[in-house]
Amino acid sequence: MKGDDMSTLIDLTGNRYGRLTALSIAVRAKHGKSTMWLCLCDCSTRTIVQSQHLRHGKIKSCGCIKKGPKTKKFECFGINQTLRKWSYFTGIKQHTLYSRINRGWSTERALTTTIKTSE
Ligand SMILES: [Zn+2]
Repeated sequence: MKGDDMSTLIDLTGNRYGRLTALSIAVRAKHGKSTMWLCLCDCSTRTIVQSQHLRHGKIKSCGCIKKGPKTKKFECFGINQTLRKWSYFTGIKQHTLYSRINRGWSTERALTTTIKTSE
């Protein structure tokens, strides 16, 4: 129990865990339960996560990572397609497209830039 009590005192404000940024304490730790943190996900969804789950990397998003890039659609050339389809059309690996977009590339740039061997 000692470890659990210690962890509740750690201030996570502003820390990033995967796609989540800890904003503030949502629910203070009560006996036997860990602190719940209000977090902002990169997809701009707010969610509440146990501090331990954040710090141990058990939860890294509001849930949008699990939904993943497979269902999300990206618009380019006036067409809305999943990355899977875009990958098929462009011949660029889905993983490459996804990591480019994750790096902040525009959809068009990700789809039209030729592949470097480093990718
Ligand atoms: Zn999210």
